[in-house]
Amino acid sequence: ASFDDMGLSEPVRRAVAEHGYTKPTPVQSATFRPIRDGKDVIVRSKTGTGKTAAFSIPILERIPDGRRKPSALVMCPTRELAIQVAEEVTALAKHRDLGVVTIYGGASMGDQLDKLKAGAEIVVGTPGRIYDHIRRKTLRLEEVMVCCLDEADEMLNMGFFEEVTRILDHLPADVQQLLFSATVPADIEQIIHDYLTDPETILL
Ligand code: AMP
Repeated sequence: ASFDDMGLSEPVRRAVAEHGYTKPTPVQSATFRPIRDGKDVIVRSKTGTGKTAAFSIPILERIPDGRRKPSALVMCPTRELAIQVAEEVTALAKHRDLGVVTIYGGASMGDQLDKLKAGAEIVVGTPGRIYDHIRRKTLRLEEVMVCCLDEADEMLNMGFFEEVTRILDHLPADVQQLLFSATVPADIEQIIHDYLTDPETILL
C-alpha cells in the first residue's frame, strides 16, 4: 500500500511527502481507513512504529479548517512526547489553516493561553495541565470531534487515571475515541468499556 492509495486530501498528501514519508508504515496502513471513517479504535502498537502519523494523518482528514476552537485533543504521558507529537502534527498540518497548541506542566500558562485564545483547533498535552485548563475554563472541549490517548498504558502508569477520565467526561458523548496502547491492563479495559463505542481493535 502507498500513501497515494489512501486517497489523502491534497494539503495532507503534500505535507506527508515534504515530511519525507514515501510509504506508510504497517500501523499507518491499518489505522487510516477506520479512523478516517469515524470509528473508535484500539491500536496495540509500540513506539517507533510510526504511530504518531498513524493517528495524525487521519485526524487531519477528519477535522475542518478554521473553526478556531478545539476540534482534536491528543493526550500524552510526558511533556517530551507531547512536544514530539505536536511537532509532527504541525508539520503534517502545514498546508492547512489549523492551529496547534501544546499544553504541559512546568511551563508558563501564558503562551498556552495565547494560543488557546487565538483558537487552536488541535490540542496536544499531558493530562494534568489539560485538566488544569479545563478547571480554569481556559480550555473548552464541547466541540471536540476526535480524542486520542497516546501511550495510554504509560499515561495510567504515571498515575493519570483520574485526570484522564475527568477530561474524557468533559468531551461530547459522540466524540470519536482513538486509544493507542502497547498493553491493555484492567484500568485501560475500564476506559474502553466506559468511553469507547463499538471499537475496532488493530493488533500489530
Ligand atoms: P513514532 O512511532 O510515531 O514515534 O515514529 C517513529 C519514527 O518513524 C519517527 O522518527 C518518524 O518520523 C518515523 N516515521 C513515521 N512514519 C514514517 C513513514 N511513513 N516513513 C518513514 N518514516 C516514518
